[in-house]
Amino acid sequence: MNLFDAMRKHDYEQVLFCSDTSAGLRAIIVIHDTTLGPALGGTRMWPYNTEEEAIIDALRLARGMTYKNAAAGLNFGGGKAVIIGDPRKDKSEELFRVFGRFVDTLGGRFITGEDVGITVDDVETIRCETRWVGGSSSASGGSGDPGPVTAYGVWRGLAACAKVVFGSDSLKGLTVAIQGVGSVGYHLGKHLSDEGAKLIVTDIFPDKVQRAVRDLGAQAVEPDAIFDVECDIFAPCALGAILNDDTIPRLKCKIVGGSANNQLKEDRHGDVLQDMGILYAPDYIINAGGVINVADGLFGYNRERALRKAAGIYDTILKVVEISKRDGIPTHKAADRLAEERIATVGKITRRIRPGRTWEMVE
Ligand code: NAD
Repeated sequence: MNLFDAMRKHDYEQVLFCSDTSAGLRAIIVIHDTTLGPALGGTRMWPYNTEEEAIIDALRLARGMTYKNAAAGLNFGGGKAVIIGDPRKDKSEELFRVFGRFVDTLGGRFITGEDVGITVDDVETIRCETRWVGGSSSASGGSGDPGPVTAYGVWRGLAACAKVVFGSDSLKGLTVAIQGVGSVGYHLGKHLSDEGAKLIVTDIFPDKVQRAVRDLGAQAVEPDAIFDVECDIFAPCALGAILNDDTIPRLKCKIVGGSANNQLKEDRHGDVLQDMGILYAPDYIINAGGVINVADGLFGYNRERALRKAAGIYDTILKVVEISKRDGIPTHKAADRLAEERIATVGKITRRIRPGRTWEMVE
């Protein structure tokens, strides 16, 4: 691949290749855009087959964070790191400490945390070498597991969707089908059942299903049957790419909104949902509670403040719908436009008003 062409295509700022033979470290840090602030994005550890695959993933994920952070109203840009390796075999203290030193060389241009393959303990090891990390355990005063805050944000986002589709933001009496009742799916189900919604759930692990049936009064279905159930809202809280040519025609709902990342298999599937009259809550808008929680932890974590900000997802969804109607585009494209408009507006301000500290005092 031609890396500079790839960087130019979406205006990437910086790609840093990090290597340390003794620690066995091969990592790539990508900073996409810092218009709004330092690049904030997790570090992923994955056994990529080729270096090119790792670069492409890091580029894609870093750009995704620019949009997610911008649309969530955070003053952070977008970045991401990938460590090439098998998280089950290749982890060591040395690896994460060396990686932490590389993060530190960026002096706060990049702030990282957990992602696929990286645990809170790994983040604590990285922290030994740099303060530019977020998402540490609640035991050490950090923001802890983001799942409950993500679930809270999804719940508020679904209320906004209901307002648009049914004219009321009460979810009482509506039927919600939840795919995946792990951390986010379970906590989302709790909010919904407390409000009086009816739940249909599925998971590939029977104990997770049983917990939802027992605690939330949910009805259980087999994993593949979740696409066929009659419901008002389908909430994907398990995997990506589940909105595709096979599944979309089976849906019998008016709203799709859940925590899973990259729900649309391809961009065009967002158009298909719109054509079917289904309101799609763009994934990175409605699941932003996680990054909102991590970002809050960078200022001394305050749970109430994090929840208040996550509640703002209600208004963000309404803005996305407004842009979708204004410009005659599906909601997944409207979400991108919302993020791009904020970056452009804030970028203009920072170019226009020169801060005093850039001037030398002359006696
Ligand atoms: P989790 O692992 O706790 O829960 C996911 C659940 O989905 C598990 O119980 C798993 O068994 C189930 N599952 C997997 N494949 C399935 C299938 N084919 N059918 C039904 N169930 C299936 O993860 P989580 O933290 O709850 O996150 C859920 C999703 O939300 C993930 O896609 C994650 O990337 C995304 N997300 C999570 C957060 C967060 O704060 N945790 C934030 C943003 C996005």
